[in-house]
Amino acid sequence: MSILITGGAGYIGSHTAWELKAQGRDIVIYDNLSRGHREAVKGMPLVVGDLMDTSLLEKTMDEYKVDSVIHFAAESQVGESMTDPQKYYINNVSGTLSLLKAMKEKSVNKIVFSSTAATYGEPERIPIDEASRKNPTSVYGRSKLIMEQILTDFDMAYGLRYVALRYFNAAGAHISGEIGECHNPETHLIPIIMQVLLGQRDEISIFGTDYPTPDGTCIRDYIHVTDLAHAHILALDALYQGMKSKVYNLGNGNGFSVKEVIDTVEKVTGKKIKRVEKDRREGDPAILIASSDRIIKELGWEPGYNTLEEIIQTAWNWHSNHPDGFKQ
Ligand code: UDP
Repeated sequence: MSILITGGAGYIGSHTAWELKAQGRDIVIYDNLSRGHREAVKGMPLVVGDLMDTSLLEKTMDEYKVDSVIHFAAESQVGESMTDPQKYYINNVSGTLSLLKAMKEKSVNKIVFSSTAATYGEPERIPIDEASRKNPTSVYGRSKLIMEQILTDFDMAYGLRYVALRYFNAAGAHISGEIGECHNPETHLIPIIMQVLLGQRDEISIFGTDYPTPDGTCIRDYIHVTDLAHAHILALDALYQGMKSKVYNLGNGNGFSVKEVIDTVEKVTGKKIKRVEKDRREGDPAILIASSDRIIKELGWEPGYNTLEEIIQTAWNWHSNHPDGFKQ
């Protein structure tokens, strides 16, 4: 029996695949390689296909005797989702429906799903727990919330059991330095700072310095990608043990401002970074910090990377050795 990992050649997907492989688990990666990288999952079974291709999904489930799914494949850029909502609703919502149809057809009834802190929108309280109001401010967040609701309906009607993991800010890279974050174009704070360090950009833009935070810049909760990967495996194993459907937040519970992140990168690397203050980026809430108490209590999840320094060190290790990402 094996685990199907959709989007398994992407950033969080590939780190999860590596952890599962290290545990000797049987996996098959399903990825259309639109954003994923073949090199990230070298030596692992990979089916190149689109989520919309229900019959290829069914064939893959048969061929690899799939009995559970970890579903990462999705569009995930907040800004782009506002200018091209159709792409987000088709690829994320219709794509997930196609996957669920294949799972139903093949009686695969367990799924761990990548959700996001963006399902909450502007938070009503900090830290954010799972019961907080869900009012997404972006199409991306809305598409993920709709997918969570679809999973709930499929659970009630067809007995599909799921865990939805609402990640805060995924960061860092594999401890081996062999895989890491590689998006094109890059939009995330830490990899962009790394590009400045590597001379690929002149400066880092700070989006907004007038937020109601101590230094005026946005505060986020950064969580190491391998800690996220472990949470997926714990969630999947809980489903194998019969756990009913659940939703969990995943963050470290510590907030860092944009300026603090840049300061920490300077400290870790010993290099100066040129910064420019710009206007706010549309749709950015001032403060997002997770309460991950539920997954800590119920599944015994424990983050291994507790400081921003450690997380940034792994990111720098990857980026400095792979300045062109997987293109080398
Ligand atoms: N950010 C920034 N400059 C950049 C990219 C991001 O100031 O070039 C800020 C962004 O406004 C947010 C934080 O850094 O407050 C984290 O953004 P990122 O895109 O990494 O993740 P998000 O919070 O959108 O998931």
